[in-house]
Amino acid sequence: MDRTSIQKIFTGIFLIACIIFGVNKLTTDDSGILNFETGTGSSSRMTYGRFLEYLEMGWVNQVDLYDNSRNAIVQASSPELGSRPQSIRVEIPIGASQLIQKLKDYNIDFDAHPTQKQTLLMMVASNLIIPFIFIGGLIFLFGKSDNLPQNSGSSPMSPLNAGKSPARFDPRPDTGINFSDIAGIDEAKAEFEEIVSFLKEPDRYTRVGAKIPKGVLLVGPPGTGKTLLAKAIANEANVPFFSVAGSEFVEMFIGIGAARIRDLFTKAAENAPCIVFIDEIDAVGRERGSGIGGGNDEREQTLNQLLTEMDGFKENKGVIVVGATNRVDILDGALLRPGRFDRRITVGLPDRSGRIGILKVHAKNKPLAENVSLDQLANRTPGFSGADLANLLNEAAILATRYKKEIISNNEVNEAADRVIGGIAGTSMEDTKNKRLIAYHEIGHAIAGSVIPDHDEVEKITLIPRGGAKGLTWFTPDEENQTLISRSQLLARITVTLAGRVTEQLVFGDTEVTTGASNDLQRVTTIARQMVTRYGMSVIGPIALENDDSPVDYDNKLANRIDTEVCKIINHCENVAKKIILDNRVVIDLAVEKLLDVETLDGEEFRNIIESYTVLPRKIN
Ligand code: ADP
Ligand code: ZN
Repeated sequence: MDRTSIQKIFTGIFLIACIIFGVNKLTTDDSGILNFETGTGSSSRMTYGRFLEYLEMGWVNQVDLYDNSRNAIVQASSPELGSRPQSIRVEIPIGASQLIQKLKDYNIDFDAHPTQKQTLLMMVASNLIIPFIFIGGLIFLFGKSDNLPQNSGSSPMSPLNAGKSPARFDPRPDTGINFSDIAGIDEAKAEFEEIVSFLKEPDRYTRVGAKIPKGVLLVGPPGTGKTLLAKAIANEANVPFFSVAGSEFVEMFIGIGAARIRDLFTKAAENAPCIVFIDEIDAVGRERGSGIGGGNDEREQTLNQLLTEMDGFKENKGVIVVGATNRVDILDGALLRPGRFDRRITVGLPDRSGRIGILKVHAKNKPLAENVSLDQLANRTPGFSGADLANLLNEAAILATRYKKEIISNNEVNEAADRVIGGIAGTSMEDTKNKRLIAYHEIGHAIAGSVIPDHDEVEKITLIPRGGAKGLTWFTPDEENQTLISRSQLLARITVTLAGRVTEQLVFGDTEVTTGASNDLQRVTTIARQMVTRYGMSVIGPIALENDDSPVDYDNKLANRIDTEVCKIINHCENVAKKIILDNRVVIDLAVEKLLDVETLDGEEFRNIIESYTVLPRKIN
């Protein structure tokens, strides 16, 4: 027997185990929604202990108890789950009867579902399962598929529902989400508002011969509000809402994925007008023939079925398919052709005003102190997605609860931001020579950052370790500096980053320099190298010697020249940093004493200290 057939048998055994497990746990609730997915199911699990931790952290939104409270499906969202609500399955050990009390204490929405009695019919049915298992196993072993499944653990899988669509269906969606809950992605919102008005009054459009898109593709990084948008249109238009993840169609049996797509669209047509939301559509929509090993029959069939279904309705009778993906580049071209996903909407990371809007949305239900400035928080958080921002405010609320406060003050908001950006704080260091050295290092960064006009302002300096760093200096990033950065700004960044180590050197002597600056040096090297190889900012000239996708080939001689130029930039900046530190030695000593005393200085306090001394502005070129 060769290796693949052995592998197949093993996977076969695995599958069988899943079926046995799955059928026993299969229950549906009143709305017909599948609650317990099978062993292969997409819902993840966590241990009871972990679940208690989640409770404590305030990450649990809702709990459904089954089987006399022996199993639970937990709706939770946490930073480690990407801050999106997810269903997680928890097995509750016998004797966890205090759980319900706990849930009450934490004010968690929960529901206990009655156990279904094992009827005679069920017992007969469960005896029938054995033949199913054998048949299933046989089909698997001798199935037509030549390829091993690439994704074998994705969706509810039992002989009983194999060809059924795994989509969650909500006939009267009260998702509770309105367009007013979405901020920072105005273009996408406008597009969707139009779709809503079509769903409400289709005649207005058809009268003037306007065709409405069948498919809308939302493209953007995770957490930017794509799911939120889809929920909002369903809610605002008050039409049924189907939602499913692309990976739930990816199966190991040929034809099952396609059957599920067919089933989904049949149901959708019956319920039109309605919205079908397919998250991670790239899982089905991946370019054909690009799978490992040259192609995957199952996935191609699934994709073909999707294409057929979308072509099927010549005129849009009201089924609007909304797809979401982060990887439009790997989608099959056929999906993007007119008549299918003919509208593509980019949902990007929010800019500063977008972030302010999103923060306002999520601050609505939170009692914030008057001095909390969402504008300032938005300044600190470039590159944050909507989900990150929601998480940040939630974290602040948790901290406020922990400190037994009625309202969330600036303190909690700042601490939450520090945590999210820099990691969890450790305990502060003993007063040793090391602590003094770190204080000099950080003040070195801060002084250089304040002296050079092209650099961002100091936000905060701290000696409290956080996320692996022993001390930290934060700068308030300037929004404009995020996209178009000038040469002098890059030089400023290099100089400021080097200034920490330079200060160690000048104050404590060459022999005392520590390993603490390795991170700084890495960053410096990356910036300097990019200046030479990408931005044409050296005497080598305006040539792109490297880019994201393909490294450009160059010979040894050129490689040496690049290295020389990188060194030149770094050496130059190091000299500038030395000069700055020497010129400001007095004020550095003063600031270090203050910092050792209080451990954390905010930007304002730091500027007050250095203001009374002359700090020479210095432009680097
Ligand atoms: P995606 O589908 O793009 O991965 P989601 O729509 O699931 O992201 O967003 C996750 C959560 O993040 C939302 O439930 C919401 O709380 C928050 N969020 C994301 N984007 C926005 C936004 N533009 N406005 C308000 N909240 C947002
Ligand atoms: Zn440093």
